[in-house]
Amino acid sequence: MMINERAFQVSAQNICEVGRFLYSKGWCPATSSNFSMRVDEYFAAITASGKHKGELSVQDILLIDMNGNAIQDNVKPSAETFLHTALYQRDPQIGCVLHTHSVNATVLSRLFEKQGFLEVEDYEVLKALPNIETHETKISIPIFPNTQDIAMLAKQVDDYLNKNQQDFGYCIAGHGFYTWGKDIETARRHIEAFEFLFECVVLELQLKCKLNAS
Ligand SMILES: [Zn+2]
Repeated sequence: MMINERAFQVSAQNICEVGRFLYSKGWCPATSSNFSMRVDEYFAAITASGKHKGELSVQDILLIDMNGNAIQDNVKPSAETFLHTALYQRDPQIGCVLHTHSVNATVLSRLFEKQGFLEVEDYEVLKALPNIETHETKISIPIFPNTQDIAMLAKQVDDYLNKNQQDFGYCIAGHGFYTWGKDIETARRHIEAFEFLFECVVLELQLKCKLNAS
């Protein structure tokens, strides 16, 4: 199969750039998080394991096939690579997957883990998400238990997305957040919208607590 080297290089540069942005927001501490872009039908570009996401260079981006295997054999893809490729496999419209470990996503996913989802409603910024035209909307973000069994987690996500018409993202408890989009700009807009919402929810919970206590 022909590898489109030029498309891979462009994807790799875009991933480095989005990494600097997401790191600057404080959403990728301590070499955590991973980002990928679809190169074509057969291949994707993804961050290598253990790299600092604010200091990525093109050498830190791997070419993988859609089963999550690295094409070069001297490099190790991130353990979570399969969560990215599972999304590319299920939907040919997905062109980019972004995964971060922000404080707010981590804290909320722990707080709402038992419930299994976080509901968010009536925020104007919800309109940044696909197919939402009004703030008078309630969305549910699923929260999956954290695990090192990535194949099992990918299956849970896939089952959930098959049953729910949800096309936004999901949390992994005590871990972080996944979102995606048709291209890197869309996925980045989603992550910014969600991080804004997560911050609002955390702040509201804190203020309610204080008001109740006084
Ligand atoms: Zn992670």
